[in-house]
Amino acid sequence: MSQLTVDELKTATRLRRKIYQDHAAGCCWHIVLDDGNLEDSSVVFCIQQAKQRGCTFCMDLGPLVKRMSRTQRAKLSTGGYNKLLDAPSS
Ligand SMILES: [Zn+2]
Repeated sequence: MSQLTVDELKTATRLRRKIYQDHAAGCCWHIVLDDGNLEDSSVVFCIQQAKQRGCTFCMDLGPLVKRMSRTQRAKLSTGGYNKLLDAPSS
């Protein structure tokens, strides 16, 4: 398992925003992002849901969340990485 790069964290944050634009409760990622179930088994469940539904943004988010630590998942779910996107690029 390799650490996520800042770019990957930004990508995950963008995907989370897109998912919440269309689905107030987090779509396929509801149990992780909305309910705070951060363990691997919940992540695997969400990935399966996304595949079954053919949900593009949710599927794209899968491999990134899978590699995250619980702390990172918690931070993503509460919007803790949003500032990465709002920061001016240097
Ligand atoms: Zn979905």
